[in-house]
Amino acid sequence: MTYALIDGNCFYCSCERVFRPSLKGKALISLSNNDGCVISRTDEAKALGIKMGQPWFEIKHLEEKGLIGLSSNFALYGDMSDRMMSIIGRFSPCQEIYSIDESFADFSGIAEDLTAYSQKIRAAVLRETGIPTCVGIGATKTLAKLANHIAKKQPSWSGVCDLTQLDRYQLADMMKNIEVGEVWGIGRRIARRLGELGIYTVFDLARMRPEAARAEFSVVVGKTIQELRGISRIDLEELPDPKKQIISSRSFGLPMTDRAGLQSALSEFVAIACNKLRQQNSVAASMQIFIRTSPFDKGKQYGNSRLVTPPCPSADNLVFTKYALRALETIWRPGIKYKKAGVMLMDISPADTVQGELFPVEPEHNNRAQLMVALDGINARYGRGSVKTGSIGFHDREHWYMRQELISQGYTTSWSEVLIARA
Ligand SMILES: [Mg+2]
Repeated sequence: MTYALIDGNCFYCSCERVFRPSLKGKALISLSNNDGCVISRTDEAKALGIKMGQPWFEIKHLEEKGLIGLSSNFALYGDMSDRMMSIIGRFSPCQEIYSIDESFADFSGIAEDLTAYSQKIRAAVLRETGIPTCVGIGATKTLAKLANHIAKKQPSWSGVCDLTQLDRYQLADMMKNIEVGEVWGIGRRIARRLGELGIYTVFDLARMRPEAARAEFSVVVGKTIQELRGISRIDLEELPDPKKQIISSRSFGLPMTDRAGLQSALSEFVAIACNKLRQQNSVAASMQIFIRTSPFDKGKQYGNSRLVTPPCPSADNLVFTKYALRALETIWRPGIKYKKAGVMLMDISPADTVQGELFPVEPEHNNRAQLMVALDGINARYGRGSVKTGSIGFHDREHWYMRQELISQGYTTSWSEVLIARA
C-alpha cells in the first residue's frame, strides 16, 4: 500500500488570508470559542514564541510586535475544508477525510511519479482555494503522517516528502532526527514515559519490540511500531486522543438520488459522530454537513455544504439530527447522483466547561443527557443501531454501506436482489 496525507498549512489562518491578503506575512493566530486560546498559528506567530493552546490573555501584549489575533470563523473554515477535500477527491478514488484540514488518499496503483502527482494536488488546491498544503507519502498511515511532518518542517522538500523513495539507511537517518512525540498517536504522556525508557527519537521507537510496547503501553503503541516499520496496522478509528473535529462520512456503494436516502444516511452519521463526541466527554458548538457527487461520474457534478450552529454546544443526537435535516433541505437538489455525504462536528470543547443557558431555547433538552447515556448503553450492549432516531429509518442500509464497487448482486442473500423469472 502507499498512503498520502494531504494537510493544510496553518489551516484556519490560511483560510483568513485567502480573503484578506493583507494578512500575508503577518504573525497571525486563530482563537478558540470566546477568544480563549490559540488553535492555529502562522510561522510568523511561531517565531514570536507562541505555542498552540496558549491563552490569548497571555500573549495579547504581543500585538505591539505585530501579532494579529482573530476569532475563529468555523463557517468559513468548514466551507473551505469542503472545497479542499473535494479537489483532493479528484486525485484519488479512495480518500479518507481525517480532520478539517487533513485527508488520507490511497496512492497505490498510481503510475505517475508520486512526488510530481502530489505537486499537482498542491497546485490544484492552491489555485482553486488559495490554501497552501504539504503532502507526505509512506507505506503506512503513520509513515505518511511522519512524511507530512517532514515536508512541513524542512523547506528543502518543497512541500512533498515521499518516504517510499528512501532506502532504509536514509529513512533511519531521518527518524533519528525526529522526536518520538511527533509520531502519530504518541501523545505527550506516552512520549514522557518512553523517554524514561531511553526512547527519545522515532528511530528508537521503531526499534522497540512491539510486544514489549503492547505490554508496557497499549495495543495501539505496538501497532504504531509496526507501522513505522512499514507494516500497515492502524485503522483511523483507533487513535484515542480527543479530537478537535469529529467526522463521520462515507462513500455510498451506489449513487443515491432520493432525499429520503440522504436523510437516513446523514441521521446515521450524526448518531456515529455524537456517540464519539460523548465518548470523549465533549460537546460541539457547530456542525457541518456535506453532500456531493463522485468526481469520476460523467454526469452532472454537484456538491454543497452547510454549517449549522445549535443555540448552545451539545452532544445530543436529536439536536444535531434536527439541524442536519433542516440544512439538507437547503442544499439537496433533485436529479443529482450523490456519491458521498458526511457530517463534521467542530468547535469541540470539554462537556464540563459549558455554561448552562439562562433562557433555554429548547427546554426539553435539559433532561436529554440521561437519554443519551441510556442510548449509548443499549447500543454498546446490543450492537450499534439497536436504538436509533426515527429518521435513520429501516430501509435498505446495505445500499449505502457497501464499499465494494465491483461486487455482484446478492442474488442469494438479499430479497431485493433475488433474480426474478418472468413467466
Ligand atoms: Mg494542518
